[in-house]
Amino acid sequence: MTSLQDPSALGQREADGEAAAVVAFWESLGLPGLVDVHTHFMPPNVLSKVWAYFEQGRAAAGGQAWPIAYRQPEDERVALLRAFGVRRFSALSYPHKPGMASWLNRWAAGFAARTPDALHSATFFAEPGAAAYVAEAIGAGARLFKAHLQVGGYDPRDERLAPVWALLAEAGVPVVVHCGSGPMPGRHTGPGPMSEVLAGQPGLIAIIAHLGMPEYGEFLDLAERYPGVYLDTTMAFTDFVERIAPFPAELRPRLVAAADRILLGSDFPNIPYSYLHQLHALARLDLGPAWLRGVCYGNAARLLGL
Ligand SMILES: [Zn+2]
Repeated sequence: MTSLQDPSALGQREADGEAAAVVAFWESLGLPGLVDVHTHFMPPNVLSKVWAYFEQGRAAAGGQAWPIAYRQPEDERVALLRAFGVRRFSALSYPHKPGMASWLNRWAAGFAARTPDALHSATFFAEPGAAAYVAEAIGAGARLFKAHLQVGGYDPRDERLAPVWALLAEAGVPVVVHCGSGPMPGRHTGPGPMSEVLAGQPGLIAIIAHLGMPEYGEFLDLAERYPGVYLDTTMAFTDFVERIAPFPAELRPRLVAAADRILLGSDFPNIPYSYLHQLHALARLDLGPAWLRGVCYGNAARLLGL
């Protein structure tokens, strides 16, 4: 028999159920909520292109389909994060070509102004003027940057970026860097180029996206070598990623050793599974409640001064 129920109402009930489960997760750890350093908010026309990119299978994730789980309008996505109890979240955007970053930064400043629980986020590209608009964004209150080496296709050692890394290091503003070679490699991904940037700016606060997937061990090396290197959990340990870039069991003790440098990231809304699944994927590592408390809240709260 065909149901006469409104499918959007059904979607609302599912969202309510998921929110209750996410809240139960952090409450059971005795946390005041979650901090998620890796979520995406960007101009609607850019976000719809990103969604099309994933849904057309162009992220080449081992041939797996990548349907976007949270295709709601922006205000509903913000409301959902709030219902999950995510107390602070980022609004990462990133350019794939020159001439785009300062426009993205203007949009992100507006988003931060109307969304007080979003971390004012900004980005850059290897291009003339990068240092000037990065300095301007820092002056305007940006608290987190994003650099996407695979999508941007630029070399982080590009001489036009040397003053950018220096500005970020000097201001103590963290930068989320997608520099691992997953889900597919770029010309300048892998641990080599970013290692050289850190050798030149050892005080840089770099948050390695996706735990450096699939070069997990090499990026854990960097966290051990530099006190400002963090790793975000984005997509790591999920069923989806375990099928294409499994986290090696022998590296698990190093997750414990780096316990204060690992930060919850989710990639919300651009994920092909539920937000709750990322949390369960962390819990099933079985590294204990203290580890989860640091990863899901404490480490980011300390780093970002929340
Ligand atoms: Zn992302």
